[in-house]
Amino acid sequence: MCLSLRRSCVCGRQEAHFMHRDNILPEGILVNLYCPECREQAEWDPTIMTEDCGWILEYDIEGAKFFFWDKGIVEEITPDFLFDQGYCSWNGLTPQDLAVRTRLHAALAPILQQDRLAYINALKETMLRHVQELKDAGWRKAQLA
Ligand SMILES: [Zn+2]
Repeated sequence: MCLSLRRSCVCGRQEAHFMHRDNILPEGILVNLYCPECREQAEWDPTIMTEDCGWILEYDIEGAKFFFWDKGIVEEITPDFLFDQGYCSWNGLTPQDLAVRTRLHAALAPILQQDRLAYINALKETMLRHVQELKDAGWRKAQLA
């Protein structure tokens, strides 16, 4: 089970949806979140931070190690590991992917009332295009999707 969490960035102008794979890590493992507008406030440190399309995620890596070791997981715990393996990363492919998907679904809803199959096909097409756009934009999770 994955819990969905919402976090504001340091400047408070943006919000991101997070998921924590297997709920191994608590919410506090993400110490700070910097959006592209407030990332200058971050003192870049690759031992505790990772980056995705202008966003910076700062983790409590020492704390994370404790939770993994407690579960008998002895991988090397790095910011990239937490992000790429989904232990503390975007819910969806980007910080706001959930909201975007909801909007895309809503936009197609009128088709659903007329023709269910047309709706399913349109949804499939829309989602493929959506993922391709994110891939082209360089979002990390989209590269694997
Ligand atoms: Zn910000």
